[in-house]
Amino acid sequence: MLLGPVGSGKGTQARRISARYGIPHIASGDLLRQHRQHDTDLGRRAESYMERGALVPDELVITMILERMRMPDAAHGVLLDGFPRTLAQAQALDHELLSEGRELKLALYLEVPVEDLIDRAANRWTCRTCQATYNYRVNPPRREGVCDLDGGQLVQRDDDRMDVVSERINVYIRDTVPVVEYYRERGILREIDGTRDIDRVDQDIQAELSGLQEARA
Ligand code: AMP
Repeated sequence: MLLGPVGSGKGTQARRISARYGIPHIASGDLLRQHRQHDTDLGRRAESYMERGALVPDELVITMILERMRMPDAAHGVLLDGFPRTLAQAQALDHELLSEGRELKLALYLEVPVEDLIDRAANRWTCRTCQATYNYRVNPPRREGVCDLDGGQLVQRDDDRMDVVSERINVYIRDTVPVVEYYRERGILREIDGTRDIDRVDQDIQAELSGLQEARA
């Protein structure tokens, strides 16, 4: 599981982890945006919350994620990104894992000071199709406006506007920091300095994950 505020680099790191370990990357924000693109019932219900930077109601997100985690490709482990964001979501996840005899192994917490987050989000460009993100200063695409991975068009997300990002940060502090503490108390939280460059953060994450594999061996 990857935890961290908006603009902490979760999505970028999650894509690397998922490719390296061959496990599905389940990102609640990406799934919700796909629902909106396909104009599903869930997408329509989520829209107004997402537009103003609020959380989509727990019952909608929990159902969506648990259904995704029950798909065959998730049988050998998944990487959760952006879920859980509330204590109710964390408890629902615990309940599901327990009932399936599965276990949450590690919660990686990407730490970035609040003052850096708005700037990071404001400079973020997202691929319309695969949702990979770029920052023209620290992580530019090879061709301006075009995703390196699939050639998709890069756009700025509506909810990366400064006023919406501030609200997302407030929501994070109020609702998601308690989730970070919840996993810290359980002893499975590892803090990663998210202010370093992307490759360095990647190395720190790999070190934590290899520690996990050694502990299992
Ligand atoms: P993200 O791409 O993770 O930043 O998520 C974008 C938006 O989707 C958030 O601002 C929320 O409105 C919604 N969202 C994503 N994940 C969750 C979640 N676990 N619980 C509630 N809302 C979520």
